[in-house]
Amino acid sequence: LGGSISRAIQQMSNATIIDEKVLNDCLNEITRALLQSDVQFKLVRDMQTNIKKIVNLDDLAAGHNKRKIIQQAIFNELCKMLDPGKPSFTPKKGKTSVVMFVGLQGSGKTTTCTKYAYYHQKKGWKPALVCADTFRAGAFDQLKQNATKAKIPFYGSYMESDPVKIAVEGVERFKKENCDLIIVDTSGRHKQEAALFEEMRQVSEATKPDLVIFVMDSSIGQAAFDQAQAFKQSVAVGAVIVTKMDGHAKGGGALSAVAATKSPVIFIGTGEHMDEFEVFDVKPFVSRLLGMGDWSGFMDKIHEVVPMDQQPELLQKLSEGNFTLRIMYEQFQNILKMGPIGQVFSMLPGFSAELMPKGREKESQAKIKRYMTMMDSMTNEELDSSNPKLMNESRIMRIARGSGRQVREVMEMLEEYKRLAKIWSKMKGLKIPKKGEMSAL
Ligand code: GDP
Ligand code: MG
Repeated sequence: LGGSISRAIQQMSNATIIDEKVLNDCLNEITRALLQSDVQFKLVRDMQTNIKKIVNLDDLAAGHNKRKIIQQAIFNELCKMLDPGKPSFTPKKGKTSVVMFVGLQGSGKTTTCTKYAYYHQKKGWKPALVCADTFRAGAFDQLKQNATKAKIPFYGSYMESDPVKIAVEGVERFKKENCDLIIVDTSGRHKQEAALFEEMRQVSEATKPDLVIFVMDSSIGQAAFDQAQAFKQSVAVGAVIVTKMDGHAKGGGALSAVAATKSPVIFIGTGEHMDEFEVFDVKPFVSRLLGMGDWSGFMDKIHEVVPMDQQPELLQKLSEGNFTLRIMYEQFQNILKMGPIGQVFSMLPGFSAELMPKGREKESQAKIKRYMTMMDSMTNEELDSSNPKLMNESRIMRIARGSGRQVREVMEMLEEYKRLAKIWSKMKGLKIPKKGEMSAL
């Protein structure tokens, strides 16, 4: 998928004359890819129409500006679609706010409630959790466990079956205790059922939340719009959180959720753990949607370019997310052997642009060789460590002396390593597909 978009843009980059046909071809290719990323058909069509309005080929000067403008227009249009035009209600530290979470069962509400509470607690807030899910057996235990782990006060009951009653009691109690962020976790159902929406309406009416957050599983596909709309119709949804972004789903449903609720995405969930939670950032999200810096495309490339016998080992290292200097060294070796530099790593954002700018392959190659010379003066301990603190001043000076380079250059190389390690760490936990399973991604 990512490959096809990169290809589409690549094709466009190669064309000297960019005419309507090229634009259409490119748009069609991207349309297909966006549909596969679960963006709603209507939204894709709207985007296409808007792009055609914005990109007036006759008005544009010839040459490379044109294709830059088309690329940028597509990117901007998708960013705009994720912006409902007004920010969501933002709770204020020290002032009591009630935030209610809604979403289908399994979407990640309970997990996300704790993440949201924990995120604020770290910033000095006094959050509290209320379990108003009386539908699912074990719901209270789950919340209790999460809350205890994060040392966040919680309220709930094993006996009471009325969610409204519990919600009200919990909110009242924590208001008295001067909590500034009272989070109400609610129940879900497997399907969109009238009973669920009625329950949400009642809990909302009774607790008067300042903000209702709709929690959406990134892998629900084209169902996102209807689901978000159904919740919006029963409660005043004011923000969206997209969960499970660590999986393979690109989360195109987020565009639907924004359109259906006219509310912004505020956070994304990137794992099961408490701190796997990020403030939503439009641009990287859209990059991912478009397959720029796309992991599955990256995997394709690895199978294509990395020598067969080295693949299992590299993939293993990838999934461990442990990027040592030795791995960097080995990858540099691959790159140099490969000829056209950086075929693999050009798939990653940041890598190609900074380490291997287009059209400057010779310089990049020289730089990589220089880095490798410096790494030749490193000890095994240094090469195999993933502890950035290990590289202290005396080690850096020793490496510089040993390789006949400047201290400044060694530091530059280590900076490069850190930058790559950061990108690499995002691959942690990656499910490794075997060759031939690529289409499943
Ligand atoms: P609820 O029914 O809406 O309350 O959903 P839960 O919070 O119980 O989550 C359902 C499952 O999804 C649990 O196994 C969670 O650990 C998992 N989950 C929630 N958020 C994420 C996420 O961001 N990434 C991953 N990988 N799993 C998640
Ligand atoms: Mg739950």
